[in-house]
Amino acid sequence: MKPMSIEDRLGVNKFAVDEENAHIKVDTQICRTCTDKPCTWACPALLYTVSNGELKFDYAGCLECGTCRIICPRPGAISWEYPQGTFGVHFRYG
Ligand code: SF4
Ligand code: SF4
Repeated sequence: MKPMSIEDRLGVNKFAVDEENAHIKVDTQICRTCTDKPCTWACPALLYTVSNGELKFDYAGCLECGTCRIICPRPGAISWEYPQGTFGVHFRYG
């Protein structure tokens, strides 16, 4: 059996996105002072990107791994909590 790629594995997950409440908020003003922007390579879902020098973030597709919360070097840049109720990622295998 052929091993699944990361993209294949991410593709089987299901997300119930809470359009009213973002469970992660990013203060992009603080991000302007962050030169290395480790979130852009550490997030396994690639939700942090840079466009025209500005950090962009989309919480839909978040795997709730907490990596960005730990790796971010600027206190206050990320406000992080688990999604409420039935919202968030639903991991599915196979
Ligand atoms: S690591 Fe933190 S401060 Fe740096 S760009 Fe990412 S969210 Fe912003
Ligand atoms: S919790 Fe994990 S998947 Fe979600 S944005 Fe942070 S690093 Fe990416």
